[in-house]
Amino acid sequence: MAASQMIMDETEQYVLHTYNRFPVVFDHGDGVHLYDVDGKEYLDFGAGIAVFALGYGNKTYNDALKGQIDRLIHTSNLFYHQPLRDAAKQVIDHTGLSRVFFTNSGAEAIEGAIKAARKYAYMRDGSSDHEIVAMNQSFHGRTIGALSVTGNVHYQDPFRPLMGGVRFADFNDFESVQAAVTDKTCAILLETVQGEGGIYPADPQFLSSVRQLCDEKDILLILDEIQCGMGRCGSLLACDTYGIRPDIVTLAKALGCGVPVGAFVLNEKAASKSLAPGDHGTTYGGNPLACMAVKTVFELFDREQIIEHVKETTPYLEKRLDMLVSKYDFLTRRRGMGFMQGLVVEGRPVGEIVKNALAQGLVILSAGTNVIRLVPPLIITKDDIDEMAEKLERSF
Ligand SMILES: *Cc1c(COP(=O)(O)O)cnc(C)c1O
Repeated sequence: MAASQMIMDETEQYVLHTYNRFPVVFDHGDGVHLYDVDGKEYLDFGAGIAVFALGYGNKTYNDALKGQIDRLIHTSNLFYHQPLRDAAKQVIDHTGLSRVFFTNSGAEAIEGAIKAARKYAYMRDGSSDHEIVAMNQSFHGRTIGALSVTGNVHYQDPFRPLMGGVRFADFNDFESVQAAVTDKTCAILLETVQGEGGIYPADPQFLSSVRQLCDEKDILLILDEIQCGMGRCGSLLACDTYGIRPDIVTLAKALGCGVPVGAFVLNEKAASKSLAPGDHGTTYGGNPLACMAVKTVFELFDREQIIEHVKETTPYLEKRLDMLVSKYDFLTRRRGMGFMQGLVVEGRPVGEIVKNALAQGLVILSAGTNVIRLVPPLIITKDDIDEMAEKLERSF
């Protein structure tokens, strides 16, 4: 039996079956390519779900992590360490917000943002029944709190009762948001570009109306940029492109480029009147290894001008994808921003296309029920885009 088949069989024997994995066993990566245990090469336009922004095997990044492993991996949050100072400074300098709390995942960043918003409202009026307005078709993670604000009944139904105090509105429908807001609302939570739901960017008018409503009613605007942030949409935060500032932003995925780390970042208003000593904590969150990853990611973003590159290369990616949309009837449209793009598929199962692409040596993802999702490493070149388009056509 082939080595890869044995690895897959034994994995299925021991690991809880919560994923229908594709039949590929990856072994190593180099730049924008992945290699399986049989040596087959794949062009990676999934980046481990929008995580590996710098590509595989970046020497500076790998050396920084190796050095930190030998020095100190963990201390707990009872003590100071240099990588925490360095990573926090980078996050604050780059986001223009005031305070950061590091978590181990995206879902935990959402949990922290929810707690900060509830505490903010509690400090204001002393009551304990505040509500959050979240969006239908959103995705914020799988823990009970994050699931409670994820507007998708398929994810939610088996796990009720969920956290209370959540109302749902329709994304890009300001009237529905207005209708969901009450005197108890402490936060409005949305993804600047919805990811899992099917790659839907916020309408500029919608986002600025929501911002204005939050200002009028002293409601915190929480933007979940776990997927669309970190340069993916052509600016560090996707909301920078809109000229909109959140009160709290959540980050994860590309924040550590592979080392598990997330963050919620607050402006001065939210930070000064919310979480205080004793309110929140984590054993691992922001440990020296994770913080070394974050610090190095930001340094490399600056040094290698990653965001400039995304901005410059986006028109070419969009043009190539638009060519596919005009060529194939079953591709009905393209949606997205920067290197976060979706192709809407009608009348053919997307899963089949993703599987065919793997056979052609191309990693792509799906989103929603009928969208091909492309979230490549942020270092892809025009040649990589051409190779992607050719392999995608062959998998049709
Ligand atoms: C992936 C994702 C999350 C959850 O992050 P995890 O690290 O999987 O917990 C939350 N929000 C958005 C927008 C995401 O894309």
